Parts: sequence; structure tokens; C-alpha cells
Amino acid sequence: MLPEVWSFIEIEDGDLHDNARKMAAEARRTAKIFDAAACGVIFGQYSSDALEEVKWYGLKKLYLFQGEPPLSPEIIARSIHSAAARLSPRFILFDSNPSGAEVAARVAASLERGLISGCIDFESEDGRPLARKAVYDGKAHAVCSWTTPPPYLATIDSSALEDVKEKNRTEPEIIREELKSEICLTNLLKKWEVSLAELDLSEARVVIGVGKGVKAEFMEAINRLAGAIKGVIGGSRIAVYNGLIPLERQVGTTGKWLNSEVYIAIGISGAPQHVMGIREVKNIIAINTAKEAPIFRYARLGIIGDLYKVVPELTGLLESDLKGES
Ligand code: FAD
Repeated sequence: MLPEVWSFIEIEDGDLHDNARKMAAEARRTAKIFDAAACGVIFGQYSSDALEEVKWYGLKKLYLFQGEPPLSPEIIARSIHSAAARLSPRFILFDSNPSGAEVAARVAASLERGLISGCIDFESEDGRPLARKAVYDGKAHAVCSWTTPPPYLATIDSSALEDVKEKNRTEPEIIREELKSEICLTNLLKKWEVSLAELDLSEARVVIGVGKGVKAEFMEAINRLAGAIKGVIGGSRIAVYNGLIPLERQVGTTGKWLNSEVYIAIGISGAPQHVMGIREVKNIIAINTAKEAPIFRYARLGIIGDLYKVVPELTGLLESDLKGES
């Protein structure tokens, strides 16, 4: 029987969230490296659509722990501990997001096994598993090994995860496991989504950055754009000085570091201190009148134009697109 790689696949409101898809893909990727079987570990109230979608990631088994949400990290960790102690997987992988990291730490402590956090890759050296992680802000890599026997526990750096489906759907074996909730020391009472206005910039998927080029009276138009693309507004240090955004919305060396999918820099020149905060952004879109503005060097899409014309046009296009969808 092949050894198993378990991947913790998080469910949100019954569905897979983005990183859950990526963790399913990561199970398969890691299993290939170690000639193992990729398995998913799923908790809570999952919809049948979520289970159907998971079948596109080539998993051999799905361990399902059904239970009424919200489930505390402690219940999840105790349940994984109990199943792992019985079934002896070779690896247990978690996303490095806060919930994944908390569950991983609890499982590692209770199983008395080593946990390597923030991994970006794995390799096998004569059968010995090694984990690679980025250090010094990604400027160097480190290779680590576990000194404890399996299961080898790891959290995966979220930015290293990729959502890669298989060409064909497969039928994983479904194994129903019991939740271990009877001896928990803590309880999770409720969970709710924060509004876009409350969301921390570093957690946002879409961020709109305003700079010195934006006048205070134009912020209403910026808010409308943010509404159309469900974005959170941040900006440059000068935008803070000009009272356009509060200090906690500043992006850059002395502000927040973004990890978003999209950043729209509006009237921002792209000073090094600002760019430092958007290095991890996947897609930068810049709107600036000056074609020599440094921000265009980092932009995937550059719009050389007057923001006071471009922003309303862009908002109009997005709003009519959304109407077309509904
Ligand atoms: P500017 O550099 O003045 O750029 C404004 C841009 O708007 C220009 O490119 C202009 O062409 C464009 N523009 C003007 N009108 C229009 C229009 N109608 N349509 C389209 N484009 C238009 N900055 C940060 O952002 N974050 C930090 O964390 C940070 N930390 C710092 C720490 C230190 C120690 C120091 C010294 C500085 C720091 N700064 C920081 C400041 C940084 O150096 C820049 O001064 C700042 O980022 C510039 O902000 P900006 O791009 O909004 O303004």
C-alpha cells in the first residue's frame, strides 16, 4: 500500500475557497515527489458541489469529518491527531494561513512530531524527505529535514501554492471519520466575514492604491470603483499626508505589505519605498499621466492617461459587465 500525503482542505460556507483548491493540488504534487497517494482531509459542512470539485485534483482518498460549523482549530487538530495516530500518513500538509498554521502547530505538538513551516517545495534525498523554504524575505532558500519519524508535518507558503487541476475527474475513496469534540479546552462561538471597509490591506485580494495624483473630492469616484471590483482602498504615504486614507491603509516600507491578486495604482509614481509593499502582488495595474513613471516598470497593465477620465470609464465598464452577469 502506498504511503499517504494528507492535505488539509478548508471549507468556507460549504464551498472550497481558493487556497483549498491549491492545497488539493499540492497534495498531488507532493505525493508524486514521494511516490505516495494524495489524500484530502475535509472538515465541517461541505456542499456536494465542493466534493465534486475536489475530484478534479487527482486525490486517491478523501477523509471527511462532518460537523456543524464553526469548528474550532482545537476540534480539528484533535480529530486529525486521532486519525493520524491510527492511520499513519507519511505527510500532513497545511496552508500557512492563520487557521492552517494553528491546526498544524496543535497536531505537531500532540503527535510530538516536527513541523516545518512556510515550505515552498519538497525533495527526496535517498528516501529522506527534505523541505525547502524561503528565508531573508525570499532572497535565499533554506533546506530543512525532520528529525522525528513520520508523519512529517509542514505548512506550505500560500504564495507558492498553485491551483492545477487534472485533465480528468477521478473518484477518490470516501472515508468518514469521527470528530473529536468531547474533551476540548476551548470553544469557537461564531465566525463572520468582515466588511471590505474593515478588511486589513494585507488580507485583501484586490487593492486600489491612491497617490498624490488623486484629489480629495475624487475619493467618491474611487469608492465607486472599489465597490465595482470589491476592492479595498489603500495608498501611498502622500495619500496619508493628504488625508485621503488613514495611516493603517498606507502601502510600503513603513506601511502594509500586500499579498493581493490585483493592485490598481492610481496617481502613484512608484517610489522604491512604495513598491516594496507591492512586490508580492500578482497583477499590478497602473494609471498615470507620466509615461516615464517608475510604477509602469512593475505593472502588468499600464494605462497612460488622466485618472480623472480613466477611473470613471473603467468603473462604468466594470458596472455594466457586472449587470450583464446578473
Ligand atoms: P508622487 O511621487 O508625487 O507621485 C504622484 C504621481 O501621480 C505622479 O507619478 C504623477 O505623474 C501622477 N499623477 C498626477 N496627476 C495625475 C493624473 N491626473 N492622472 C494620472 N496620474 C497623475 N511612501 C509610501 O507610499 N509608502 C511608504 O511606506 C513610504 N515609506 C517611506 C519611508 C521613508 C524613510 C521615506 C524617506 C519615504 C517613504 N515613502 C513612502 C515616501 C516615498 O518616498 C514617496 O514620496 C511616495 O511614495 C510618493 O507618493 P506618490 O506616488 O503618491 O506621489
